[in-house]
Amino acid sequence: MPSPLVEFSRIGKVYGPTVALHDVNFSLYPGEFIALVGMSGGGKSTILRLMAQLEQPTSGAITYAQPGLVTRVMFQNDRLLPWMTTLQNVSFNSHDKAQQAKAEQALAAVGLRDFANTFPNQLSGGQKQRLALARAMMAEPQLLLLDEPLGALDALTRRNMQQFISDFCAKAHLTTLLITHDVDEAARMADRVLVVKSGTNVYEAAGAKGQNAEAVARVAAEVLDVILAPTTAVS
Ligand code: ADP
Repeated sequence: MPSPLVEFSRIGKVYGPTVALHDVNFSLYPGEFIALVGMSGGGKSTILRLMAQLEQPTSGAITYAQPGLVTRVMFQNDRLLPWMTTLQNVSFNSHDKAQQAKAEQALAAVGLRDFANTFPNQLSGGQKQRLALARAMMAEPQLLLLDEPLGALDALTRRNMQQFISDFCAKAHLTTLLITHDVDEAARMADRVLVVKSGTNVYEAAGAKGQNAEAVARVAAEVLDVILAPTTAVS
């Protein structure tokens, strides 16, 4: 087993009187795709913010394989700039030729080569998410954090995008952490599924990435059982 890219050891996070996290322990290995699932308020987004170093834990230690790990977060709200073309959104309107060429490559990698001069509001929901992914890839991240990125999409587009993102991350050998409340999505996309409940990770299942519908359904059912099981109150 290689060394983890990121390791959470006995992580706690408190906001005033609220214990958002307590005793969170897990490792994320290079090239791995992990999904965090659980009910709303369980602590998933707090874990993501800590991993992105947007906040610091109250207790415990987060260890990174190297300082300055390049991390990008992709949210459901795609944060695209409507007055810029898709290419400008990806190149950050740079006039640097190398940056523009890199942006063109990033657009091509997400299948939007022919939409370079289109504005975001002319794109479908799935295309907007692919554009957001292209923009995130410009930083050449080692760690990609996905915070419910597909929540606003219709069911069919969502299925296509699950496959697309999963294949894309595997091809790019990206280490990825996905937050979702959709157990099917987690089972279908991830190598490992961690259930986060009442502020801690309570269960781990092998994901069914690349496997058939039956395997996905089996993992999803296993994970759902854990999520719905009664929890002992946190003191
Ligand atoms: P999830 O992503 O699973 O829905 P969160 O990580 O957003 O859960 O929230 C976990 C808990 O921490 C909740 O009780 C939430 O209200 C609380 N919490 C999260 N962020 C803050 C904050 N900035 N201030 C106060 N409480 C917060």
